[in-house]
Amino acid sequence: MPRPAPLIRSAPGVTTPPVVVVGGGIVGVLTALELRRAGATVTLLERGRIGEGASYGNAGLLVPGDPWPLARPAAVVEGLRALVGRSSALTVRWRAPGVVPWVGRFLLASRPGAALRTGRLVHALAAESLARYQELLPEPLGAACGLTRRGWLHVHRSPGSLAAGVRQARAAGRLGEAWRLLDGPALAREEPALTGPLAGAILYPGDQGLRSYPLVQACAAQAAAEGVCVRPGAAAWALRVRGGRVTGVVGDFGELQASHVVVAAGADSATLLRPLGVRLPILSGRGHSLTFTAADGVPSRPLHLVDSHLVVASALGSVRISGGMDLGIGEARLDPARLAAIWTECQRWLPGLRPAGPVEEWCGRRPMTPDGRPVIGPVRGAPNVLVASGHGMLGVTLAPITARLIARCLGEARPPVELGPFLPRGRAL
Ligand SMILES: Cc1cc2nc3c(=O)[nH]c(=O)nc-3n(C[C@H](O)[C@H](O)[C@H](O)COP(=O)(O)OP(=O)(O)OC[C@H]3O[C@@H](n4cnc5c(N)ncnc54)[C@H](O)[C@@H]3O)c2cc1C
Repeated sequence: MPRPAPLIRSAPGVTTPPVVVVGGGIVGVLTALELRRAGATVTLLERGRIGEGASYGNAGLLVPGDPWPLARPAAVVEGLRALVGRSSALTVRWRAPGVVPWVGRFLLASRPGAALRTGRLVHALAAESLARYQELLPEPLGAACGLTRRGWLHVHRSPGSLAAGVRQARAAGRLGEAWRLLDGPALAREEPALTGPLAGAILYPGDQGLRSYPLVQACAAQAAAEGVCVRPGAAAWALRVRGGRVTGVVGDFGELQASHVVVAAGADSATLLRPLGVRLPILSGRGHSLTFTAADGVPSRPLHLVDSHLVVASALGSVRISGGMDLGIGEARLDPARLAAIWTECQRWLPGLRPAGPVEEWCGRRPMTPDGRPVIGPVRGAPNVLVASGHGMLGVTLAPITARLIARCLGEARPPVELGPFLPRGRAL
């Protein structure tokens, strides 16, 4: 794998404490690897097992073609339906801490201009991230992660939904993304497993798919081989502050000194920083998935069943159906009703898709920001603490560029200018 030029240097013979990365999901693991390659001594702390948070059972799509935030005018309508309990895709746990201010910010961010601006910014990161993935995933690693480059097909049931999809595709086209419109008959030829009524579909040929869990595992093994101290089963409880700087991390392992701390703890990132007076705008957004092998009815490429808010993607010999957004859920507990709804809804589109073996049921918590922008960079008031989180529905897509930007933050006196809209400052809830 190509290596970046070293950015972080200590004087010969001087031993500085390590950079401690908290969180062994896709973002933390790639960040630890990138920092090591930039010359840092790195310790990665994961309270459970590597890659078993949100990075485990997600849809695994790398989607510069769909950089749009959840916060947009259409989401306000869906949000109102959720408020009266009539949305199948979205629920909000209103009494959970932080939910009300988060939703307030979400509504503000849903203005059309704001959503377009965020889409543009996130697209720039996603496009760069995809280029980084090309370096990160040479064969056979790409094959081991089930990497496919057949694009992502957004399928619409109604003409109204398709028209909205075309508007979105035109906006993506203005950002340089290729797209192609398929009418109903063309779609039926392309994906015969789908059943009608089908208004049409939009193909984003530049989008890709993989399984993120084997990718995280492989990158963690690579990081360990290159000298990162990878510590699963090590929960960070608090950051130690002395003289206005964070000097270490306290946890069930005792106290570990740190030159810098990178908080990549996914949906739990805000918890770790709250005692420092830092209020990250990150809320948990639980999603579910069902994974199984199937003999028939498997689509030939990843599908977004737009009107049902579901994604169906196969890789490494299994099919995965994922969806649902439950905001403010603090724990990754399966909801059988949600899983049943996902299955029933998917059957309406793909009735021939049946499990040929056991079904793996999973849920994970996405780290959601109200404006759809990840939080990347140093924390105001504690400059040796950096955040790499809040990637919401795009953590797999954006992990490599996040890792690169964090390494640049450590190597430069000021954060890189392109990080401006993603910095933690000014975004407290
Ligand atoms: C159903 C679903 C489908 C999705 N589909 C896609 C997709 O197609 N494309 C895409 O790009 N993204 C997708 N996502 C989003 C993506 O999965 C997440 O954005 C991404 O996994 C976040 O990675 P992370 O490393 O920040 O968090 P996580 O993977 O959750 O990792 C955080 C880790 O930090 C650990 N941790 C937390 N607190 C501590 C602590 N105090 N001490 C030590 N360790 C700690 C946790 O145990 C966890 O392992 C999907 C998500 C879901 C739920």
